[in-house]
Amino acid sequence: MQFIPYGKQLIEQDDIDSVIETLQSDYLTTGPKVKAFEEALSDYCGAAYTIAVANGTAALHLASLALLKKGDRVLTTPNSFLATSNAILYAGAEPIFVDIAEDGNIDLDLCEEMLKKDNSIKAIYGVAFSGRMLNQTKLKFFKKNYNVLILEDNAHALGAKEEEIKSASCKNSDVSILSFHPVKHLTTGEGGAITTNSKELYEKMLTLRGHGMVKTPKMKPWEYEMRELGFNYRITDIQCALGLSQLKKLPSFVSRRIEIAKKYDDAFKNSIVKPLYTYDGKSSYHLYVVQVDFSKLSISKEELFIKMREKSIGLQLHYIPINKQPYYKSLGYGNEDTPIMDKYYEECFSLPMFPKLNNEEQEYVIKTLFEVLNG
Ligand SMILES: *Cc1c(COP(=O)(O)O)cnc(C)c1O
Repeated sequence: MQFIPYGKQLIEQDDIDSVIETLQSDYLTTGPKVKAFEEALSDYCGAAYTIAVANGTAALHLASLALLKKGDRVLTTPNSFLATSNAILYAGAEPIFVDIAEDGNIDLDLCEEMLKKDNSIKAIYGVAFSGRMLNQTKLKFFKKNYNVLILEDNAHALGAKEEEIKSASCKNSDVSILSFHPVKHLTTGEGGAITTNSKELYEKMLTLRGHGMVKTPKMKPWEYEMRELGFNYRITDIQCALGLSQLKKLPSFVSRRIEIAKKYDDAFKNSIVKPLYTYDGKSSYHLYVVQVDFSKLSISKEELFIKMREKSIGLQLHYIPINKQPYYKSLGYGNEDTPIMDKYYEECFSLPMFPKLNNEEQEYVIKTLFEVLNG
């Protein structure tokens, strides 16, 4: 069996053709494909504005500079890729790690308790973990009742919907970010995007993407003004050509991910392997996460990873609690009261989940997992 990773891209001839076409065109960057990709994402997600950028981390950085000031306190989740809370640090603000709920997302009830007690909390950075969106009713309630900014990290959740609200539509949040890394729902190699419905935030982030540079019709032909310290976080037309071609196939990618999830759900019914959640229409399944109580088994998680690897299956773990990373510990983090996250971290791992995974491979993954777990 060829090695089966936990995630990978699906690139087809039409994707390759559109990249080649752009390579042969006049614009490799700052051209029509970037604009077209941004517009297509706005249409798909239902947000007023989209800014495509170099990667998801750059998206988080720009959003954080637009939303936060030095010293701002921000509630966020330990269960994410490092970039989510790193972006809070980039802006000189202070991440506060809140425990997760049973679905792996930040516990919004705990956030509410904290908002009630502490009116200095400036923002919530939530992650639609594994593809399941943050509870939109709750976000709406927060926006209505508290003076709090909300960022949705939707790097896992392109194509997801909750109560008819699409991910990255920013219906109940200020800003949302996406990533187009090859393991995500669609890829541009590296790439990311920010969506928002706020013209003011849009203009601010757009300026920051390009060195803080502004050019207006009133200026002399050669003139531009740098009004703040920005970056070069541009994405190329070559990448956006690939993104546009991939975006057309996103609905089929998401349906295939859901099909795979349902097959896993069935296979694990009444077994020692507990899916983080079973299919309920709310996830676009970037990841398929399961939990196993290793204290009841003769095999450790480490042995499981090694044995599966020997059988050509790449498990992954999403995630090591961010607050327990050495750098965060050096800042004084790591001792937060996060019992759900701690237990989750002991038990969780992610199984292969990507559109190209075929039935035969998935059946092999399931069979091998049971064999290895049962020793
Ligand atoms: C992938 C990812 C990012 C960062 O995206 P890059 O494009 O790799 O910079 C941010 N947050 C989450 C939750 C992610 O999974």
